Amino acid sequence: MSREPRTAPRTAIATVCLSGALEDKLPAAAAAGFDGVEIFEPDLVASPMPPGEVRLRCADLGLSIDLYQPFRDLDSVDPERFAATLRRAEHKFGVMEALGTDTVLVCSSVAPDAVADVDLLAEQLHALAERAAARGLRIAYEALAWGRHVNTYDRSWAAVCRADHPALGLCLDSFHILSRGSDPAAIADIPGEKLFFLQLADAPHLSMDVLQWSRHHRLFPGQGAFDLPAFLEPVLRAGYAGPLSLEVFNDVFRQADPARAAVDAHRSLLALAEATAARGEGSDLITDPVAEPAPELRGHAFVELSADESLAPVLAALGFARTGLHRTKPVERWEQGGARILVNRSGGPAAVAALAVESADPLAAARRAARLSAPRLPRERGPAEADLAAVTAPDGTAVFFCRTGAETDWTGDFVPTEETAEKDGTGIGVTGIDHVGLAQPFDHFDEAALFYRTVLGLEPAATGEFAAPFGLVRSRAVADARRRVRLALTVSLLRRGEWAPGVSEPQYVALAVDDVLAAARAARAAGAPLLAIPDNYYADLDARLALSRERLAAYRDLGVLHEETAEGAYLQVCTEVLGGRVFLTLVQRVGDHDGYGWTDAPVRMAAHRRRRLARERVRA
Ligand code: MG
Repeated sequence: MSREPRTAPRTAIATVCLSGALEDKLPAAAAAGFDGVEIFEPDLVASPMPPGEVRLRCADLGLSIDLYQPFRDLDSVDPERFAATLRRAEHKFGVMEALGTDTVLVCSSVAPDAVADVDLLAEQLHALAERAAARGLRIAYEALAWGRHVNTYDRSWAAVCRADHPALGLCLDSFHILSRGSDPAAIADIPGEKLFFLQLADAPHLSMDVLQWSRHHRLFPGQGAFDLPAFLEPVLRAGYAGPLSLEVFNDVFRQADPARAAVDAHRSLLALAEATAARGEGSDLITDPVAEPAPELRGHAFVELSADESLAPVLAALGFARTGLHRTKPVERWEQGGARILVNRSGGPAAVAALAVESADPLAAARRAARLSAPRLPRERGPAEADLAAVTAPDGTAVFFCRTGAETDWTGDFVPTEETAEKDGTGIGVTGIDHVGLAQPFDHFDEAALFYRTVLGLEPAATGEFAAPFGLVRSRAVADARRRVRLALTVSLLRRGEWAPGVSEPQYVALAVDDVLAAARAARAAGAPLLAIPDNYYADLDARLALSRERLAAYRDLGVLHEETAEGAYLQVCTEVLGGRVFLTLVQRVGDHDGYGWTDAPVRMAAHRRRRLARERVRA
């Protein structure tokens, strides 16, 4: 069946996704760019606005009301109860008329008296649809994953088929379908006019009760583990013509600033539409609303660290040369091999202030970022400075798109010194920046991962979860396909309380070397403060890997951490924490190792803490 290419999809969001009251949620949704909302009944019940005023408020904001939800426990084997339910429904139909919305979500019953017999269920759905149709309204029937008898989309579809009423169709919810492992492919065979509504949610893979999983851990598309483009494609192929609507229950989003969460949510739908259009024949089904593919990334252009005096001597000891001084700002350029680090001495706390990526087309990258609602970085620029395209990431890091050597070359902002990056007599041999590690604020981890991935055009890489000394840490890497740009994001899984002696939200720059032992020896000889690792680690390493005596002795001497997988090994040496939060690592990848040394992170974290306590004792 051939089909006209679609215009950009309409987007909607259920008010339950956002924190606050209706008067907070509606403007947040509108400002983020949503076309419509699903009104979640408890939000309306708690609101002082009568339904007619909600309707006007939405119209003022340019929002349609696409759905009223949920209507629960419709069917019953008890005729009296069912009669009472129809009475309740008539009340809700009146609310819908006042709201100006024509579709109500009816979810499959979870009640003990739910109807098992599909004929009786169809009869009751038909009766409800008949009443809705009399008022020009429609019923979208949804199978809850934990419904008593109807818990898969094929069962809800069977009931809708049997009921056979034009005012009765399906609501498909990606969470209910994918959480049960149902194959969405057969959705393509359902007539499009029977797909009344589509709700989208992602989720991480979790082994837990599906109701708890749904109520607490849903995520916006692209933030979890579900393959949502593969879900959306058959829905569109069936001919679904309604909005892409988000229904996400999440403990963090429920507390987050609704304006910010709405932007994150809207970005997720744009990225989902883009990914779906990029799938095989998906482009016939949906217009890519981003319409600006991410230009190729060619590496890390530079990392800017705000720092005190402690950083420069360490960079020198690690073999970096100070090659330039900024024309107008207290910023130094340090280089070695392909690695460039800017040291900003403006006085801010030690931190990764900016990431810059080498982009094949920085202006196109900036346009893409704008389409994905990335906040543009406000910058004060001197007359001789390059106008670099830049945005601010959710963790506050500035992200620059550069093309070193092009007309708007950032390197022109620096007056060269006598030193050159090529003059490497130090024996350290840093070849480039392997990756940057950024601990994320708890509330913005999922947002940040989606931001970096979509705005920079990266793909999900390794994920992990490890028991660190001061709490569980979750980690997620994003990288380009050729692994020229890698970011490792981590988050402490629970908010920290009083007991938080670890380094708070650590950040690091991993520097690639070909021979970590030679590099570490040279760095230590030059006075670099390498982190000491306890003997117990090496006893365990010996037991696990049976390394040669010489290698193990060298590791122990230099503080090398060695993570080994079937693909290869990740060898690293870390510096102490410099200025409270930031450290540097020398990293050697062996074979096809694509990880980030996370198995050794607890050992590294304990060592950093021990070192800090020792320093504090000396000061005292
Ligand atoms: Mg739903």
